[in-house]
Amino acid sequence: MKCGLEIHVQLETDSKLFCTCHTNYKDAPTNTNICPVCLNQPGAKPYPPNKAALDGAIKIALMLGCEISPEVTYFQRKHYDYPDLSSGYQRTSIPIGDKGELNGVRIYDVHIEEDPGQYKPDLGIVDFNRSGIPLIEIVTEPDMKSPDEARKFLRELIRVLEYSGSARGEGTMRADVNISIEGGKRAEIKNINSIKGAYKALQFEMVRQKNLLKRGIEIKQETRAFLESQMITVPMRLKEQAEDYRYIPDPDLPPMLAEKDRIEAIREKMPEPSHIKTDRFVQEYGINKDNAKVLTSELELADAFEEVVKTIYPEFAALWMRDELKRVIYYNKMNFKESEITPAQIVDLLQLLQNNKITAKAGKRIMEKLPKNHEMPSMIAEKLGLTGVVNEDVVLDAVKKVVNKNPEAVSDYYEGKKNAMNFLIGQVMRITRGKADPGKTHKLLETELKK
Ligand code: ZN
Ligand code: MN
Repeated sequence: MKCGLEIHVQLETDSKLFCTCHTNYKDAPTNTNICPVCLNQPGAKPYPPNKAALDGAIKIALMLGCEISPEVTYFQRKHYDYPDLSSGYQRTSIPIGDKGELNGVRIYDVHIEEDPGQYKPDLGIVDFNRSGIPLIEIVTEPDMKSPDEARKFLRELIRVLEYSGSARGEGTMRADVNISIEGGKRAEIKNINSIKGAYKALQFEMVRQKNLLKRGIEIKQETRAFLESQMITVPMRLKEQAEDYRYIPDPDLPPMLAEKDRIEAIREKMPEPSHIKTDRFVQEYGINKDNAKVLTSELELADAFEEVVKTIYPEFAALWMRDELKRVIYYNKMNFKESEITPAQIVDLLQLLQNNKITAKAGKRIMEKLPKNHEMPSMIAEKLGLTGVVNEDVVLDAVKKVVNKNPEAVSDYYEGKKNAMNFLIGQVMRITRGKADPGKTHKLLETELKK
């Protein structure tokens, strides 16, 4: 199969694209986050395009390795009729950038467009609160060859968008997917709202088309809708009814200038994209790709890792940050930033471990205490009495002491009473303040009692 994606995500701005209405309206009642401009009332002219939206789009295009094509970009009117579009056209920019690439998938173009309103047929209303919200649209070439490849690409893309700080996350994503399999025709699937949805829609569509071909039925070129609730696709319209958008430049909007200086300033300030950071971590720190991927899953986590490896051996840091740190923040349903764990805390903990001041088990316990706790691990270790790893000699000493001091338990043991052994282990643990390994203690006791 061959698959290409068109992904829309909300750009991070304070106000809408062509008016001053807010973009944070989450709890606003229906049709209260509106003005004559974003309602497209007759005679209401759009303001000049939001500069932050253009800067954000340029940054994202650059992070996706695009060439920023024209110095002047302008908006076109894309005409179609639907209740959510009160003007009868959607304003969409010509490409901000093109010829990009992300993990082997070519980016065809990146552009800006305005969000329409939200038509709710079941309620018989249109909510225009989101009408005019700036979206970035990323269009790929049909370079993905399986639902899994598409899912991987989307995950990486969402990471790049989150890194950019200029777009919101998967929660605002809407994607259209086109798919064709050998011997068939191209189908377009609309209405996909999540990475999982894209994966399921592609899987369903692949099987559906293969079955048609097997039965010798011709596959029609058509547009289909994905029904998230049932994870299936259903026909929307055939090629014959394909829309003609009648694009024309919008005469109400001045062209936007994306001057070379402005582009270079954005390029200088933009964060290193996640996929490039992953490869660099492998190269620079000699850690494996899986670890590098997990560590770059969040910009703040990646930054913390780079801070930590200034003092700690990278493999060791990667192991603990990938397994234990991620486990703890995942368990607490946080991301790294929300956990407020600092690189200094991680360094302190890893030094305790490296210098054999605490056991791995104690290290895990301390890690669990770190989220939203600004104490240093060495303090926590002290407080919980976790410092000091007991070596075998000390345990053996304790074993001998316990055997000598508890003749009753020892004779119980010889008589085959099971509890006796547990009692003796307990005594050794008490003397070593819980730092002896129970399994080893058991073996040492057995050897001692056989003498
Ligand atoms: Zn408005
Ligand atoms: Mn679009």
